[in-house]
Amino acid sequence: MPVKIDPQKYCRDQTVMFETGLHRDLAPHVDASGAERVLILTTPQQSELGHELAAQLGDRAAGMFCRAAMHTPVEVSAEAQRHLEDIGADTVLSAGGGSTIGLGKALALRCGVRQFALPTTYAGSECTPILGQTENGVKTTMKDARLRPDVVLYDPELVATLPVAMTVTSALNAMAHAVEALYAQDRTQSATELAILGLKSFAEALPAVLRRPDDLEARLATQQGAWACGTVLGQVGMALHHKLCHTLGGSFDLPHAETHAIMLPHATAYNQSAVKDALGPVLDIFGGATPARGLWEFAKAQGAPMALRDLGLREADLDRAADLAVQNPYWNPKAITGPEIRALLGRAWSGEPPE
Ligand code: NAD
Repeated sequence: MPVKIDPQKYCRDQTVMFETGLHRDLAPHVDASGAERVLILTTPQQSELGHELAAQLGDRAAGMFCRAAMHTPVEVSAEAQRHLEDIGADTVLSAGGGSTIGLGKALALRCGVRQFALPTTYAGSECTPILGQTENGVKTTMKDARLRPDVVLYDPELVATLPVAMTVTSALNAMAHAVEALYAQDRTQSATELAILGLKSFAEALPAVLRRPDDLEARLATQQGAWACGTVLGQVGMALHHKLCHTLGGSFDLPHAETHAIMLPHATAYNQSAVKDALGPVLDIFGGATPARGLWEFAKAQGAPMALRDLGLREADLDRAADLAVQNPYWNPKAITGPEIRALLGRAWSGEPPE
């Protein structure tokens, strides 16, 4: 039985719809919002999708900007802002993954425009009031209610084009939000409920998607999982797992979703003795000797990358990565110690199972 999720029950700040074919019939949604001049945003790789959307929106499409990039570089946002102001757009339509949606958020903050999101990955940025931006190689993260897109339209046809490898890593990226939400310091009953729904959606639907990547019903269930996991990311604080991925992505340029996929079982292993009860749902959903082991076996069975060394991280970088990860204190359910973090990174680097 597919898990059914009702977005309105958990978050009233956004209009959220799940429906096959939504991206081919956008005009009624755009008109209902009062938008008149839409700037379409994509990455260079997804510019064709941008052109399709522009053709469909006709006069409502005021322009396109197809240079969204990972980690929202401020110089790209500034260039997009100039374009937005030149064409007098009142709305941005971000069609893509977290990189494109990040650009839409930056523009909403800079120019006060309305935001539509058409997510094409499972990363979940469309659900959060969070923006990570890079300037001179340094990534900083901010939270502001104005960043959350106003309308999110989930169309399974848009994730059906995700290559299988990205489908798996992006799903595990989303699941990591839910796992950390289960033991968040500021967790709530509603966020816990939602995190469990998100994990169940992926546990059931991801294997079905991998058996048949064009199964739109299963794809829709994974998008509901992404929405649930992304929403909890915006509602409660994250801990060790997100900090480690931030360090590895920011300082060693490792790819976002793949890094999350590899680190999730290892970060869970680090914390599981301190939050045994909170992680009970992970054990129930994924089985295994421990929550970490269950997640590791699930990831392996879906064909996820398992070792940081396969992403190009050098063994010689592990000491520095461990030092960076313990530099700025942050909340975690278990105390962070340098030697334990170094040991965790060593296992994640070589692809060993978590302890
Ligand atoms: P992405 O948006 O960077 O996309 C990666 C690549 O895949 C791009 O080339 C993109 O064009 C392509 N792609 C995306 N969807 C596709 C599809 N359906 N078919 C074919 N190709 C497709 O990847 P991401 O993992 O979604 O986003 C990562 C970024 O999002 C990072 O910068 C991360 O920090 C940010 N993020 C932010 C939040 C937040 O709440 N602020 C949450 C999650 C991720």
